[in-house]
Amino acid sequence: MIKITNLTVEDVRFPTSKDLTGSDAIHTDPDYSATYVTVYTSDNSLKGYGIAFTLGKGNDVVADCIKHFFPMLIGKTIDEIELNIGELWFEFVDHSQLRWLGPEKGVVHMAVAAIFNSLWDLIAKKNQKPLWKFIVDSDPETIMKWLTFKYIEDVLTKDEAFNILQNSQMHKEKRIQTILKEGYPSYTTAAGWLGYSNEKIIELCDQYMAQGWKHFKIKVGLDLEADVKRLELIRQTIGPECSIMVDANQQWNVQQSIEHINAYKKFNLLFVEEPTSPDDVLGFAKIKKEVGDVRLATGEACGGRIMFKQFLESGAMNVCQIDSCRLGSINEILTVLLMAHKFKVPVFPHAGGVGLCEYVQHLCMVDYVLINGEKDNKVVEYQDSLHEHFIHPCIIKKGNYMPPKDIGYSIEMKQKSVKDFTYPNGEYWKDN
Ligand SMILES: [Mg+2]
Repeated sequence: MIKITNLTVEDVRFPTSKDLTGSDAIHTDPDYSATYVTVYTSDNSLKGYGIAFTLGKGNDVVADCIKHFFPMLIGKTIDEIELNIGELWFEFVDHSQLRWLGPEKGVVHMAVAAIFNSLWDLIAKKNQKPLWKFIVDSDPETIMKWLTFKYIEDVLTKDEAFNILQNSQMHKEKRIQTILKEGYPSYTTAAGWLGYSNEKIIELCDQYMAQGWKHFKIKVGLDLEADVKRLELIRQTIGPECSIMVDANQQWNVQQSIEHINAYKKFNLLFVEEPTSPDDVLGFAKIKKEVGDVRLATGEACGGRIMFKQFLESGAMNVCQIDSCRLGSINEILTVLLMAHKFKVPVFPHAGGVGLCEYVQHLCMVDYVLINGEKDNKVVEYQDSLHEHFIHPCIIKKGNYMPPKDIGYSIEMKQKSVKDFTYPNGEYWKDN
């Protein structure tokens, strides 16, 4: 019987604000950071790793919150965790005192995400499979026990969810073969950060096109005229066949959103992301009404499944951008994927940051094989930064995420990276 003997969390921060990687209209100096959880077991060769992603300050707050949950896991066997992970998830999100700080959103929910990400890593490793493969190989009855339907059954019943999973079973093997061969299409955000010069944008677009990318996202939001000029520059550089999408990172109010989006219409955008507050469901609905067929994307800052329910049911979210570290790990993510499928809204997971690409590669494979069966008109975010810190970084071929083949959830970092970038006493930070 393998038991959990100890858990630790490290506050790991990378100084990405130095070169403005990750800069956008609101987050002007992001230091991509991870609360890095390690689960130790009675088997020395078996450890679980998980993260939540933040932007520097505040990483310590999430890390502190994570520690409150450790006593709930010490001494449990991996078998009982695997068998009861759905019930265990509810014990965490319904913690009688910590729940007050949410419920099911914000710092506490991110702490739950980091811990359950580490538990899913452990479960996949125990079963000797990459996490995506472990999930798609599991039968629908088992998967249903992992999921959470509380507060959303008015839009997605358990029977509907089960039927989606059941109907995919006959296509599963073929889809697995397709995904192993072709991978899953991605888009790049790396060419269009707000702090970059025109020369750097052109150089990066050329570079990414040469590597096979056809979808480019740029940051907008501070100055309409300057944004239109950058969009013209990018359209000239990548040509009419490639797709452009823009991300305003919550910069505008509802009226400004309508004005800006209508001014961008000539660029035939694939979507406009987070024009306004990520909580403003009715605001999104008003914007959608005034911008016609432009698709609105949001979700990276949606705290939980209940927000996704509002957005999906109201028609205000046309592209669903789940975040692997803000939603409460696999237990809640799969439920949101199922809800999005029911409302016929494509899922383009949010990635970039640190570790998010390593996570979403599993999620898009699951969405394709187990739920949606489509991938050719869908793209998952990709950003080429910080992958060198991971033992098993994601692999991209011609702009496609290739299915991970190593066991687990792909988030184990190199020991030296953790040591150097732990805040504030790691090698890097103590000198800076
Ligand atoms: Mg975004």
